[in-house]
Amino acid sequence: MSEEIQSAATVIPQALMYTILINGTLAFAMAVVFLFCLTDLEAAAAATETMFYPCLYVLQTAVNSTKDAVAMAGIIPILAAASSIGATCSGAGWVTVLCSLHAPNEPSTPACKTPPSPNIASVAATPTTGSAATTSPATWPPRHLQVSAADPRPRVRPQPRLAAEQKLKDPEFFTKLSAGQSPEYLWIGCSDSRIPAEQISGLGPGEAFIHRNIANLVVNTDLNVMSVIEYAVCHLHVKHIIVCGHYGCGGVKAAMTPKDLGLLNPWLRNIRDVYRLHEKELDSIKDEAARYNRLVELSVTEQCRNVIKTAAVQQSYAKNQYPVVHGWVFGFQDGLIKDLKINHKEMLESIQKIYNLTEG
Ligand SMILES: [Zn+2]
Repeated sequence: MSEEIQSAATVIPQALMYTILINGTLAFAMAVVFLFCLTDLEAAAAATETMFYPCLYVLQTAVNSTKDAVAMAGIIPILAAASSIGATCSGAGWVTVLCSLHAPNEPSTPACKTPPSPNIASVAATPTTGSAATTSPATWPPRHLQVSAADPRPRVRPQPRLAAEQKLKDPEFFTKLSAGQSPEYLWIGCSDSRIPAEQISGLGPGEAFIHRNIANLVVNTDLNVMSVIEYAVCHLHVKHIIVCGHYGCGGVKAAMTPKDLGLLNPWLRNIRDVYRLHEKELDSIKDEAARYNRLVELSVTEQCRNVIKTAAVQQSYAKNQYPVVHGWVFGFQDGLIKDLKINHKEMLESIQKIYNLTEG
């Protein structure tokens, strides 16, 4: 009996010490996680994963360092329950304080339920709303961004912090975006994830209307690209249309492969037709990589020709002298863009014998 009392006398002070440590660590972790929740969901997810490791570490140390592990095991569930209640209360206190600090002008509404300012993408999707706070608290986070324990979390998450940083740089940035768009350029590029139009061209939000598809093709039966050209020319009145391909294009490479590619066949057929049109030149190039690169350039040139064949471009050019079509090719090796120096006027004159659609 005396041994049990001695054992308890040794274990209980240690257990109490670890209780305080666990309680404090949990409370601190919860406060940090909720603080991140107020500003950055991605950081909150990371914090949730990392901040609770200290709690587990303390618990494990408590068990390992106690001589009478059996006695400790009997006490730990009680202490854990007490710690959880204490941590929850402490965390709630922290959250209340943090929320009141975060939204000093809205004492009746907890700041952690206030929707953050929309990021650039959401503003661009609703250009005419004219309001920064377009999402109501009841619908935040949007359904497509809600996560469940069963689903893997997407790495892409809302970035309200980016919006806040942008506002600091330019307080009028979102107001200007909300006013509408008047881009100077139409960009037709490849869907390849390595060539984001804005990054390789230096264009910013509002400067380019963008269409991308596999191998940056302009196909006259593709209602998508035809609608984009029509809208960009007739409604947005873009001044330049840039068709930008890239060396190492998987679409062009696939088209050079004599193989049945299923649903891709009709799409890639357009590139195979380019090869047929320039068969003599391409076949004279012995080096396969060089031949492949040349096909990329010829395909871009051909897509420029397809743009110029459209009625919208021809009629606008006849009336306004714009848009002017350009052909570019981006290189991964050096990050540079090669201008194919398409002569819009000459190309237009060369196709108008057959494709003249100037008359409405
Ligand atoms: Zn490509």
